[in-house]
Amino acid sequence: MEKSLINNRKKNLIRKLRKMQRRVREFMDGKTKMPAMHVSYKQKVIIPSIQLALSRIADGSYGRCLGCGSDMNNLRLLIRPEATHCGACSTIRSRLD
Ligand SMILES: [Zn+2]
Repeated sequence: MEKSLINNRKKNLIRKLRKMQRRVREFMDGKTKMPAMHVSYKQKVIIPSIQLALSRIADGSYGRCLGCGSDMNNLRLLIRPEATHCGACSTIRSRLD
């Protein structure tokens, strides 16, 4: 993946991470009426996956599918920069769940 593209994804990820953390904090402070289920999903799934994506950017493996090892579609990463699996692998995974 091109360096400029990676920097762009990194910015998106950091922005998203901050937004998620802010939402969780607002919930803790009683400033929002978001359902507790949504907050726990953010804390347990989304935030860790963003942190994983950022660490993969740091080690140079970002953009590679954790399932099949192929390069992920740029459009997919644009929509979900924290994605760890390509479209095909996540379809298989969601069927297994
Ligand atoms: Zn894959």
